[in-house]
Amino acid sequence: MRELIFATHNQHKSDEVARMIGDLYTVKDLSQTGIDEDIPETGSTLEANARQKATYVYNRLGVSVFADDTGLEVEALEGRPGVITARYAGPECDSVKNMRKLLVELANEENRRAQFRTVICLKIGESEYLFEGVVKGTITREFSGEEGFGYDPIFMPDGYNQTFAEMPMDVKNKISHRGLAIEKLVAFLRQIDDLK
Ligand code: IMP
Repeated sequence: MRELIFATHNQHKSDEVARMIGDLYTVKDLSQTGIDEDIPETGSTLEANARQKATYVYNRLGVSVFADDTGLEVEALEGRPGVITARYAGPECDSVKNMRKLLVELANEENRRAQFRTVICLKIGESEYLFEGVVKGTITREFSGEEGFGYDPIFMPDGYNQTFAEMPMDVKNKISHRGLAIEKLVAFLRQIDDLK
């Protein structure tokens, strides 16, 4: 079967994709390719980082590959933290420090609108394709919920009165930015397969 590399060290992410497209592709994460180092992410946009990671792996292995990058974009902060979402509170940060920093910045702000955005870059040969998934919502005033990771305890998606961290994982995955971007990727891979 054809191989598709997901340029991530996170096996949970690659398993999620494998569940959706495993009939057409063997999906592997980086640990299965011998690339152990962290791939540089020095771009100033999510698109640039996704392309940088996919291109790095393609140049090393010459196989079909995709990479993702996600950011939390807060309206009142003109789209920040965006590309620096993972390290918002500085080099020694963790999720709690990142969330605290955001809540302090928004303490006197009435506009709590925000979105998570995932960009996926797929490289097949010399061709490159981008897919985007967005979930809109609001930043709450305090942490709630224990599930998930990252900013989940302070992000409430539109149409729900629970934060991502209060939702069962399968419910979150269906509506999440990454879930939506992956759905578009998988639909595209099925479509090009049908054309063959
Ligand atoms: P990555 O590009 O998937 O590594 O995501 C970058 C950062 O965005 C992560 O380190 C998290 O802080 C945050 N993030 C991404 N996806 C989610 C999510 O589904 N919930 C909460 N935070 C997330």
